Amino acid sequence: MLRYLILEVLLPLLVFAILRSVFRSVIQAGRTVTNAARTAQTPPSAPPPVAAGGELRKDPVCGTYVSTSSSLSRTVKGQTFYFCSAECRDRYRG
Ligand SMILES: [Zn+2]
Repeated sequence: MLRYLILEVLLPLLVFAILRSVFRSVIQAGRTVTNAARTAQTPPSAPPPVAAGGELRKDPVCGTYVSTSSSLSRTVKGQTFYFCSAECRDRYRG
């Protein structure tokens, strides 16, 4: 009777617990790989972190906030716009 209990109740529970822990470790390994891939794929032309000093202005093309002291600017009809990158500046048609 005890043997029956072990085979029918405890063994499935044990198998389930093992499978669950294996499944979890696989998911965590997958997440780690994804994070590493994201870090590696960061483009070199990414906008620099906001520099100290200068106001924050919104890039009208992509919506990124950029510092007026470190960003590219372009004056259109007397109004100065600030851009995160040369691509955004060239794409803007004022
Ligand atoms: Zn931009």
